[in-house]
Amino acid sequence: MSIISTDISKAVELLNNEELVAIPTETVYGLAGNIFSEKAVKAIFETKERPFFNPLIVHIPNINYLDTIVETIPEKAKLLAEAFWPGPITLVLKKKSIIPDLITGGKDTVAVRVPNHPLTLDLLGKLDFPLAAPSANPFNRISPTKAEHVESYFKDKIKMVLDGGACKSGIESTIIGFENGEPIIYRLGSTPIEAIEAVVGTIEVKNKKEVAPDAPGMLERHYAPKTKTILTSHLKEAVEANKNLRIGLLTYNDILNDDAIHFKIVLSEGKNLEEAASKLYDALHQLDQQDLDLIIAERLPDYGLGKSINDRLTRATKS
Ligand code: AMP
Ligand code: MG
Repeated sequence: MSIISTDISKAVELLNNEELVAIPTETVYGLAGNIFSEKAVKAIFETKERPFFNPLIVHIPNINYLDTIVETIPEKAKLLAEAFWPGPITLVLKKKSIIPDLITGGKDTVAVRVPNHPLTLDLLGKLDFPLAAPSANPFNRISPTKAEHVESYFKDKIKMVLDGGACKSGIESTIIGFENGEPIIYRLGSTPIEAIEAVVGTIEVKNKKEVAPDAPGMLERHYAPKTKTILTSHLKEAVEANKNLRIGLLTYNDILNDDAIHFKIVLSEGKNLEEAASKLYDALHQLDQQDLDLIIAERLPDYGLGKSINDRLTRATKS
């Protein structure tokens, strides 16, 4: 029997019973549990096979809830929350002591956001606790943007995926921390830098392993298909050089045709970065099922969401 369902009251019941439910958000599906239940939070790590030192994002129903879980809110954090919530920005702030160490990997900060999905906002409104929810995929694998992706990963491990359709943004939230009150981007994501800078001014990006070692979204290999994947700005040459292999192509809008190409996905014929982001992970899931020797991905323009997509594709190519 399928675990996919739209029954919110069943999701409420399971979560109240310290069980996990996969939930839809505007970014990707999350594997959710009560942040105050040690049993539920441990089950999140075990189900994902995620190392315990990797902290989880806490999902709250609205901006007013922030005071319950964080100690202090820098002025620019308030500006960002007001500008973008509900929406795909996660703020890393000094935590209150009620937040369990298991959620934060022992850190004194907690990552928090208000997700922008009607079903999940409705669900959060019906619960007495926030939800810890990392992406609903096994550690390091491609993030799920459809209920079916979660089902194929976890049908034997969880009881329910709350079906909210395909995720609109399609890549994870942008993560922002604070150093001396100034915002720093720790992970590129669904909210483009340009939109953030319009609110808080020029912002530094520190998303490399060397400066942010214990953040899973920053691990060199992440978001990865099982099939070997390369990223290039020169599609034609890359296809030419690999003609002996069974090739799959992931392009932005290029309509390159070549007999050597076995399977091809164009992310946005009209060159729309939002469309490309929303289709990215589903495209990788599909390519990974074609029994290919090699996926050749085209580098996107390096601005707006193009930067975030290139970040994910780069990590997908690392072995
Ligand atoms: P995921 O939910 O799988 O998209 O991953 C959660 C992301 O939030 C990871 O990149 C975490 O490292 C990051 N994160 C969560 N809590 C913290 C924290 N306290 N400090 C820094 N990064 C965090
Ligand atoms: Mg993840």
